[in-house]
Amino acid sequence: MSFSALGLSEPLVRIAAERNYLEPTPIQAAAIPAILRGGDVRASAQTGSGKTAAFVLPALQLIHEARGRRNRGFALILAPTRELTAQIAQSCRTYGRHLPQPLKTNVVFGGVSINPQMMALRGGADVIVATPGRLLDLVERNALSLSSVSILILDEADRLLALGFAAELARIVALLPAHRQCLLFSATFPQAVRALAHNLLRDPTLIELPATETEIPAILQRVIEVDRAGRTPLLRRLIVENAWSRVLVFVATKYSTEHLAEKLRKTGIGAAALHGELSQGARTKALADFKAGKVRVLVATDVAARGLDIVALPVVVNYDLPRSAVDYVHRIGRTGRAGGNGVALSFVSAETHAHFLLIEKRHRLDLRREQIPGFEPSEILAPAVPASGGIKGRRKSKKDKLREAAARVERKERD
Ligand code: AMP
Repeated sequence: MSFSALGLSEPLVRIAAERNYLEPTPIQAAAIPAILRGGDVRASAQTGSGKTAAFVLPALQLIHEARGRRNRGFALILAPTRELTAQIAQSCRTYGRHLPQPLKTNVVFGGVSINPQMMALRGGADVIVATPGRLLDLVERNALSLSSVSILILDEADRLLALGFAAELARIVALLPAHRQCLLFSATFPQAVRALAHNLLRDPTLIELPATETEIPAILQRVIEVDRAGRTPLLRRLIVENAWSRVLVFVATKYSTEHLAEKLRKTGIGAAALHGELSQGARTKALADFKAGKVRVLVATDVAARGLDIVALPVVVNYDLPRSAVDYVHRIGRTGRAGGNGVALSFVSAETHAHFLLIEKRHRLDLRREQIPGFEPSEILAPAVPASGGIKGRRKSKKDKLREAAARVERKERD
């Protein structure tokens, strides 16, 4: 299967070849022809599987073909984080490089001055990549109208459809013309948002690759039991011993990002913090420094969990576990991208043991627990995988443990 066989025009086939894309990935092979036919699409595919090109390449072609027409519209691509919008806009510019008439791509997101974005929108745009809040601000200031959107694309669509973004998304959808193509892409589509997704789509082509969300064969998932207090020295030891060149570490709070980065720096490991309350300049710099290899460790909240494409990222560490099981998939999906291999480590302590069992249950995982000599937890954790032999009847069954875990979470929620 080649890119031209999917119906893409020569300038787009050429850029794929230049990027060394030897053949379309499965999501590209499935989505590109459906999009070029003009239909709606809902596609889920594992992280790092070439989703961006799967919607950007055909969208550029459709917008380009419509250029001469009187009522030509523009493509609106929505994404949940600023970093992701910037990354998608960059892909649009790169992939469109050889089109005979260049397309104008604008990126709009909050946290920076709105005036340059208003100026840049003068004279219109062919592609606008936006976070929902800033897009609505610009509409309110009459900097753009959504009535000529011809293609609406939601990347990380389940996140945009869920609480937190749902109200803004509904306002945006109300401003769109009735006739538009709608494309929803995500690695995950929980049942709860499927119904909402359905309301946006007309007779969509449904693409689901692979069948389960956590089938990410290129990522080795490891679980290490360690006391809370032992996590920082253990992380340090693992980074040094394994000579990891680049590590993305997820923590639960903004404070922890700064605190842990500072602690690592004090021991001579270059580290930067990334969270939602930094200035946009600081966020961009932290990510750029990390991508350029100027800092070895990026300590981030879930703001970095979605969509970011960091080439050659060998390791992701869940220093704190994600609150939601869905975010586990997005976090670990930052590694093992585009056919590369990756390791995802999760630190589990006596306090978080039950929560990790729930994450495993949700994704039908059953991962072996490891302990690292010198960092064994002082509190005894119920072993998830029995040691060899064992006395029947004494060890709790997995079901018992799950029941206990669920009861503990319920208790916690009640308290
Ligand atoms: P994405 O899932 O869109 O974030 O893409 C993940 C990575 O895969 C990016 O670094 C792309 O450059 C790369 N990629 C996209 N399409 C292909 C392809 N057909 N062959 C090889 N790599 C690709």
